[in-house]
Amino acid sequence: MENKFQELKTRLLEVNDIWSAAGLLHWDQSTYMPPGGAAARARQMATLGRLSHEKFTDPAIGKLLDALEPYQKSLPYDSDEACLLRLTRRRYERAIKVPAEFTAEVTNHTSESYQVWTEARPANDFERVRPYLEKTLEYSRQSANFFPGYDHIADPLIEPRDYGMKAADVKRVFAELRQALVPIVSAITSQEPADDSCLHQYFPEEKQLAFGLEVSQQFGYDMNRGRQDKTHHPFMTKFSLGDVRITTRTKENFLGDALFSTLHETGHALYEQGIRMDFEGTPLARGTSSGVHESQSRLWENIVGRSRRFWFHYYPKLQSVFPEQLGDVPIDAFYRAINKVERSLIRTNADEVTYNLHVMLRFDFELALLEGELEIKDLPNAWRERFEADFGIVPPDDKDGVLQDVHWYFGLIGGSFQGYTLGNILGSQFFAAATEAHPEVPSEIENGEFQTLHNWLKEHLYQHGSKYTAPEIVERATGTPLSIQPYMTYLRTKYGELYDLTD
Ligand code: ZN
Repeated sequence: MENKFQELKTRLLEVNDIWSAAGLLHWDQSTYMPPGGAAARARQMATLGRLSHEKFTDPAIGKLLDALEPYQKSLPYDSDEACLLRLTRRRYERAIKVPAEFTAEVTNHTSESYQVWTEARPANDFERVRPYLEKTLEYSRQSANFFPGYDHIADPLIEPRDYGMKAADVKRVFAELRQALVPIVSAITSQEPADDSCLHQYFPEEKQLAFGLEVSQQFGYDMNRGRQDKTHHPFMTKFSLGDVRITTRTKENFLGDALFSTLHETGHALYEQGIRMDFEGTPLARGTSSGVHESQSRLWENIVGRSRRFWFHYYPKLQSVFPEQLGDVPIDAFYRAINKVERSLIRTNADEVTYNLHVMLRFDFELALLEGELEIKDLPNAWRERFEADFGIVPPDDKDGVLQDVHWYFGLIGGSFQGYTLGNILGSQFFAAATEAHPEVPSEIENGEFQTLHNWLKEHLYQHGSKYTAPEIVERATGTPLSIQPYMTYLRTKYGELYDLTD
């Protein structure tokens, strides 16, 4: 059994290495690659995608898993080996249902589609990407239909990202949250908007990057195992547990963008850097779901990085970096500015209160597109109408409407957005649990100390990687299943101080 288990791990390590190489090509494509490299890069990534798929779906892996089943059953449910075998079995059963040729075709297609999107978005030209998006929708349906027997066609697409949740579960959580959020959004947006002009000044790029990266390291981001580069659409990526990278973008006329996107990607990176080193090269060595991953980016970006306590410590430092811009701006004005709630166009820049409405819109469109209730050609218009209904404003163009997010242009339609809102909910749930265990966490944040919080997260969440499913880790770490209560308490407390929420 020992030998068979070792052989399985060796094979999984090869799959992991090919994946990591593909990840590096993607990182390069999104940071330094000249545009002329696009066609060959698409082909190279498709080749690696095909190779890793072939290796992972090799019948020898199935035979090893079969042979190891008695061994798995003899182990405690929570042992590393049993968890690895269970996860590998689940992924394997899924992967053998998808032909390698299909995977390669999709990788090739999405890579081309991404390149076209990078040109179409600034040109505000939806028509240019429309044929690609139509093809993507076709691929998305085909992909779901490799797994017949689903309750909803989106279920097989949600599964690899947020295992343990189906479209119906997400709809239920979203409906509950929407009901609690809408009155708060209306109450706030009917009041005088916060003045955030202090953030809209000239802030030189170098200084912005340096400040963000310094905070990121104080959160615990290890630069011996990380680095930061610039990109269009910030992301975190990992090639091994010793190489976890973040990317950012800066706007010299707006302070909020680079700073908070850096803190966001840092949250993702802390999760990956916190995984047990002995999981390296196995499927256990990554965050367990997109919702749990996003809970960490949102926790560090918002619950910590946009808190009053955090800025007690960091605002004087920020003022000394930008004395001309912020020297005369009181901390309260700055705090209100970075937590300004408004009906705005862009999801990634949206405040904590309205953010989830952006996600719900996209999630509902994914379902409607997959169900055939909505066609791609009608999407820009449908976007404008829904946006007006939810936000009371109409996007002036597609650039800041349907073209704004990379997801549908670089991947399938379905399952790409629910994780953000699940993450907001779970971020508060994890933070509440950490604070209950260690009531000193808030006062430590006020002193620019994050170790108690970081250690709690490492111990209860990060180190386990994918050992437990999202529903399992949420219960283990917080003692209850996913609940919107801590999140709503957090929002009501924080925004109740900033705005009048009595109605
Ligand atoms: Zn994120």
